[in-house]
Amino acid sequence: MANSKPIILLDRDGVINYDSDQYVKTLEEWVPIPGSIEAIAALSKAGFQIYVVTNQSGIARGYYDEDTLHAMHSKMTQLVEAKGGLISGIKYCPHGPNDNCQCRKPKSGMIEAIEQELGTSFQTNTQTVKAIMVGDSKRDLEAGYARGCEPALVLTGKGRDTQYKAFSFPFKVYTDLAAFSLALLHQYC
Ligand SMILES: [Mg+2]
Ligand SMILES: [Zn+2]
Repeated sequence: MANSKPIILLDRDGVINYDSDQYVKTLEEWVPIPGSIEAIAALSKAGFQIYVVTNQSGIARGYYDEDTLHAMHSKMTQLVEAKGGLISGIKYCPHGPNDNCQCRKPKSGMIEAIEQELGTSFQTNTQTVKAIMVGDSKRDLEAGYARGCEPALVLTGKGRDTQYKAFSFPFKVYTDLAAFSLALLHQYC
């Protein structure tokens, strides 16, 4: 029943690694939140497909370049693989808020790109959850909800502030990615 498991879409900063109001600009500043790497590996080993969907406007702002971003993502991927897991894909938006792109969350261009790669639509099947978007910011949940993903908030990063914001749809709340992973493993495995 592997294909009955939802696709897991993860925001990066504040979900997988510690966020910073000054942006995560260097490889050294990319530090995983305790338990997050193990959580991704556990979900992956249980048959969930994991994607990362991340706004990286620090590139447009000139705080770091794409080579540095790729180095951070290599580190993240290698840490997950060292625990026996796999990240199926990483989508990032390098644009700024005024670039009017289609990928910067709360727009859902990155999620649509994943749907295209998988040859599916997360919106078509109302019987089962086909994807879950996990984030710490309102715009993460909005981007996911707009494409039919089940929205899930973690209370790491900006999540403790986000939980009290006004939303037009319901969402689940988890302490952190480790708690999310544990809940899914119990629900689906
Ligand atoms: Mg975030
Ligand atoms: Zn973009």
